[in-house]
Amino acid sequence: MFSPSPQSAFRVHLPSRQLMATKPKLGQNFLDDAQAVERIVASLGDLSGRTVIEIGPGGGVITGALAVRAGRVVAVELDHRLALGLRVQFPPDKVTVVEQDALNFNFAEVAAIAGERLPVVGNLPYYITSPILLKLAASHAALDVAVLMVQREVADRVTARPGSRDYGLLSVTIQMFGPAESLFTLPPDAFSPPPDVHSTVFRWRFAPRFAELGVEETSFLPFVRSAFAQKRKTLANNLRATGFAPADAAAAMAQAAIDPQARAEALSIESLAAIWKSLNSARPPS
Ligand code: SAM
Repeated sequence: MFSPSPQSAFRVHLPSRQLMATKPKLGQNFLDDAQAVERIVASLGDLSGRTVIEIGPGGGVITGALAVRAGRVVAVELDHRLALGLRVQFPPDKVTVVEQDALNFNFAEVAAIAGERLPVVGNLPYYITSPILLKLAASHAALDVAVLMVQREVADRVTARPGSRDYGLLSVTIQMFGPAESLFTLPPDAFSPPPDVHSTVFRWRFAPRFAELGVEETSFLPFVRSAFAQKRKTLANNLRATGFAPADAAAAMAQAAIDPQARAEALSIESLAAIWKSLNSARPPS
C-alpha cells in the first residue's frame, strides 16, 4: 500500500529515459530541469487532497512531483510505451494512467468524481497546442486552473495585451475563458532532446467572461474571428469582408465609440464586446 514518502521516492525517472528512442511526431521533448519541475507544480497552488490532471506525462518527471503534493494524479498519455512505464513507476492508487489522446479526454467526468473543478498541468506536445487549448476552453466548467508549457511564441500570443504585436484571435479567445499570465521561459537545453524553440510556462485561471460582458459565446467567438480575419485590414473592412453590412458595421462602431479606422489588434476585449452588442442590437441575430 502506498504511503506518503519522501519526494525522492517519486523523483526516480524511468531508468532508461535518456536511452529511450523518442517520438518527435508526438512532441516528445522531455523536461530535464528539476527546478523548472518544482516551479511548474508550485504554480498550481496548494494541491493537498486534490485531484490533478496531467496532459502528456511522458517519462513522469512532473508526475512524480505532483504525486508528492496532490491527493491523486490522472495522467493522460497517448504513447503506449510511456503509459506502461508510468504504470510501473507509480502506485495506481496515487497515479491513474489513462492511455488516451488528451483531445478525447473527458475532463467533466473526472471533475464530477472529484466533486470540484480541477487543476490541469502539462508540458504540452507542441504539435497540438492549439487544439488542446481549445479543448480546455470547451471543458472550462470542469477546470479551475491550468499551468502549461508551450512554445514561447504561443505563450506570447495567449497572454498578449491589446495594442501589442502578439495580440490577436488566440489572445482574445483564451482570455475570454479567464486571465492568462506568463510565468517563466526555458531554453531548448532544458529538454531532452532539445526542441528548436524556447518554451514558456503560463498560468490560465478559468473564469469565463461571456456573461459579465453580456455576449453569447456561440456568436461572439465567430465575430472575433471575423474581426481579426486579416491583420492589415481595419476592423470595419474585416467585418464587411466576412459578410456584415457596411452600414451595420459602421453604426455599431460609432455606437460603441470606436474609431472607424481602428484595427481589431488595438481593441480591448471590452471594446470588442461593445461592438458585438451594438451589432446585435442593430440587427438581432436571426
Ligand atoms: N511531461 C513530460 C515531460 O515534461 O518531460 C513529457 C512532455 S512531452 C513535451 C509531451 C508528451 O505528450 C509526450 O509524452 C507525448 O507522448 C505526449 N502526447 C503526445 N500527443 C499526445 C496526445 N494527443 N494526448 C496525450 N499525450 C500526448
